[in-house]
Amino acid sequence: MKIPLCRICLKTGTYCQKCESTIAEGLVSPLDIKVLKILLDSKFVESIDKKVEYVKSINIGKRIVVLIRGNLNMEQTDRMKNLLSRRLRSRVQIVIGSDDPEQLVRELYKPVRVLAVGRVHLPGDMKALRVTIASKDYRRWRRKIEDMTELASRLTGYYIYVSRI
Ligand SMILES: [Zn+2]
Repeated sequence: MKIPLCRICLKTGTYCQKCESTIAEGLVSPLDIKVLKILLDSKFVESIDKKVEYVKSINIGKRIVVLIRGNLNMEQTDRMKNLLSRRLRSRVQIVIGSDDPEQLVRELYKPVRVLAVGRVHLPGDMKALRVTIASKDYRRWRRKIEDMTELASRLTGYYIYVSRI
């Protein structure tokens, strides 16, 4: 698995200049370091192909969302989720990221069923997505939907509007 810091730096806790600046620029947070250390110590990083990239971990509500890019199969995703949930003592959701905002939104809202995602044209440079969810699902998953909407907005740079039908 491709990770944003050197393995040796993570292991020793003494960071080289490159890692130092990655941290200083805020590209890697203290939560990322915690997650990366767990993944490294448990040899999870080594067990995953280099085409798979660790992007970011974000604390949202009581959940930690870990964003990955590339092909992680179901077994690997479960293994990662279980490992991190246990060690962080939190609910962990692994999200396979995509450069396509619609795809990413569908992935983030799981297990909530997204009926439709559409781009909305707004005046100026504002980019927006309308996410359509059944009212029944909205009532059931309200909290999760609110959290994920905020997260999706941060990750995609789109204003996200949830529409209930
Ligand atoms: Zn380094």
